[in-house]
Amino acid sequence: MFLTITTTGTPEHPATDLGHLLHKHPGRAQAFSTSLGTAHVLYPEADTDRCTAALLLEVDAVALVRRGKGKGRGGAPDAALAQYVNDRPYAASSLLAVALSAVFSSAMRGVCRARPELPGLARPLRIEIPALPARGGPALVRRLFEPLGWAVTADAVPLDTRFPQWGDSRYVRLVLESDTVTLAQALRHLYVLLPVLDDAKHYWVSSDEVDKLLRAGEGWLPAHPEQKLITSRYLSRRWSLARQATERLELLRLAETDDSDVEEIDNAVAAGAGTETDERPTPLAVRRREAILAELTSAGAARVLDLGCGQGQLVQELLKDARFTEIVGIDVSVRALTIAARRLKLDRMGERQAARVTLRQGSLVYTDKQLEGYDAAVLSEVIEHLDLPRLPALEYAVFGAARPRTVVVTTPNVEYNVRWETLPAGHARHGDHRFEWTREQFCAWADAVAARHGYTVVLRPVGPEDPEVGPPTQMAVFTRTPPHEPAHRTPAHEPATHEPATREKEAKAA
Ligand code: SAH
Repeated sequence: MFLTITTTGTPEHPATDLGHLLHKHPGRAQAFSTSLGTAHVLYPEADTDRCTAALLLEVDAVALVRRGKGKGRGGAPDAALAQYVNDRPYAASSLLAVALSAVFSSAMRGVCRARPELPGLARPLRIEIPALPARGGPALVRRLFEPLGWAVTADAVPLDTRFPQWGDSRYVRLVLESDTVTLAQALRHLYVLLPVLDDAKHYWVSSDEVDKLLRAGEGWLPAHPEQKLITSRYLSRRWSLARQATERLELLRLAETDDSDVEEIDNAVAAGAGTETDERPTPLAVRRREAILAELTSAGAARVLDLGCGQGQLVQELLKDARFTEIVGIDVSVRALTIAARRLKLDRMGERQAARVTLRQGSLVYTDKQLEGYDAAVLSEVIEHLDLPRLPALEYAVFGAARPRTVVVTTPNVEYNVRWETLPAGHARHGDHRFEWTREQFCAWADAVAARHGYTVVLRPVGPEDPEVGPPTQMAVFTRTPPHEPAHRTPAHEPATHEPATREKEAKAA
């Protein structure tokens, strides 16, 4: 397994600085014994104008298999055999990534004690891996590296040059070139993306892999367009680990975009700006809060969760009404919570008022004991911010685990979008909306959720109702069915205005 890193230089910035950066002297060949075998670092060329470092890994296949067994990975005899008879020792792969991090750990962290200014400087880099196992082929290789600032050459290696009709092997010859990527970033890209391309079973996937991934991915993975594929493949498709990583990456992404200065936040608060979800902020956002408040009041709720509270407008409204004795705002975004805290002037609030309100960072796709026992929960314009496959997790966390007596959910009605003058056809109302539903879709979801978790549900329009396309916002009010009542029957105490969730369907049929 073989990888070379080449840089060019000038008399002021000699290429041999690569030796400082890698912490490996260009004049010597060095060998390091790692848990996977022996790693050699040598410099085939080391001049002022051009310097190349090569990393060669001699894999100890037997040691590898022993390691695997030692971790209790037994399995069928032929599976054990496959561990001996495979391409491990010959192809650059995830093992190379592990060796990279073992041999070049300081370089990967961007540390250079002798010349502290060096790691920050981007310099021309050319990295070549002659045989890289790449599931997904050259196309995926490009999708992974190009967004990171690399010019990518990825040529499929033919199975056998004498028999072109046999087609290509699963290997590519990879050359990466860049003038903008620093060496530390380059090593981190490789550390994460080589195993992603290899996509083979690892012997060492454990929960601390999540930490390693996040550390190596710092600064580039949160914004990478293939972030999901990278995360799930890196973590060998182990779903719970991948989920954990995705979740924490989301936090990182938000933290990284969390750079708006205080003035911007103050201005937003002073202007009473609506949330980012509102293209026509004031009127509709205000109507939505009024509608939600009315539902909470009629449900007699006193202790209320605002889930995905965003910038805290609803929390602010709730605080004005003494009937709400405890208000908890939860959001995944630190930035939103910061704005909310400013809006509420939490730092200047009197003790009694402050005792009524809590703002907390958290993710709604995980169950949370602290959310149990409340009278009501609000999900205002939140569900559409989740990827659809994660909606069941939120559903379970709220309706299955927290189980407040009342849940109010609002979401855009996509049919109404044709009425927004400023919205180009086919566009969602906000860039971060992962989906927007028709009335029928929302109704079907609400019905199913209610049935699954023992709630009844009522759908109500919010905003001016258009005869053709309905209201701009749709709202579902869920009420938990008392334990002795079957889920589908309308509770006796329900007022006469109770509308079945199927209202919209009936209206459509009519
Ligand atoms: N409820 C507010 C904000 C809606 S914007 C309002 O009606 O104005 C959607 C909010 O949901 C954002 O603040 C976003 O950070 C938050 N959010 C998205 N996914 C989340 C998750 N998994 N856990 C918690 N909050 C989430």
